[in-house]
Amino acid sequence: MDVQTNKENHLGGINSFFSASQKYKVSGDGTLLAQKPKAQDMACMICGTQLVYDTIAHEHTCYYCGAHEVSPIFCPEGHFICDSCHSKDAIAFLERLAAHDKSTDPITVVHKALTHPSFKFHGPEHHSLVPAAILIAMKNRGIPKVDGSAITTETILEGIKRGARIPGGFCGYAGTCGACVGAGVAVALFVGSTPTRGPERKIAHSATTNALYLSQDGLTRCCKRASYYGLSAAINLLKEDYDIDLGPAPQIHSCKYSERNRDCEETDCPYFDSSHE
Ligand SMILES: [Zn+2]
Ligand SMILES: [Zn+2]
Repeated sequence: MDVQTNKENHLGGINSFFSASQKYKVSGDGTLLAQKPKAQDMACMICGTQLVYDTIAHEHTCYYCGAHEVSPIFCPEGHFICDSCHSKDAIAFLERLAAHDKSTDPITVVHKALTHPSFKFHGPEHHSLVPAAILIAMKNRGIPKVDGSAITTETILEGIKRGARIPGGFCGYAGTCGACVGAGVAVALFVGSTPTRGPERKIAHSATTNALYLSQDGLTRCCKRASYYGLSAAINLLKEDYDIDLGPAPQIHSCKYSERNRDCEETDCPYFDSSHE
């Protein structure tokens, strides 16, 4: 299968959406309005000033824990929050879901997390969310790993831990997206991939690659959209290659969170629901 055909298979209806997306809105009298300019940065958790996403990293001291870190993302007022302090409440919430949640659909787990107060609108906690959601659903459906062993709470915790190692802003700074890598993390744990197991490693790479195909949308980062891409790639790979049904993948035009996103790309995003405008 050539790359383009493979891409289209995993894009489904989204590919045609992008070709039809427009940079304008139609007003009530039928005239065209330019899209409003959008802020490209998110606000400091401490003072609300929009963050700087620099092209080079600088040394900072975390406002909360005092850790020294080098990062290109900071508040111009001098505030800096390390990834651990930014995300640890959300990671703790995912760890509680790993132990107790009974959801059988990954999309249900994702919506629980995205409406939980510990989850910031954007942040590296989304890198753990995709493997957590996939593995929680597999555990609760009694689906074993490829080697026949059970998917346990410990398997899910390992997926959360791997996702949490991917720093914030990776999508813009490393040519890959943490939530898309989350699809690879989930599938790696399912197939038992290691650096020296070639065939298993290939399958895990396929999951991330398929998510990254979707992520080549040319839009400002959105951790919700990226989570939907990662979820879609993992759900589709498990269905097509292993005949595993994990329920519905995220549907286009279904996002409930756009009003909270000052960077929302609105009609350029395949998940934007115009009825929420
Ligand atoms: Zn600040
Ligand atoms: Zn800190």
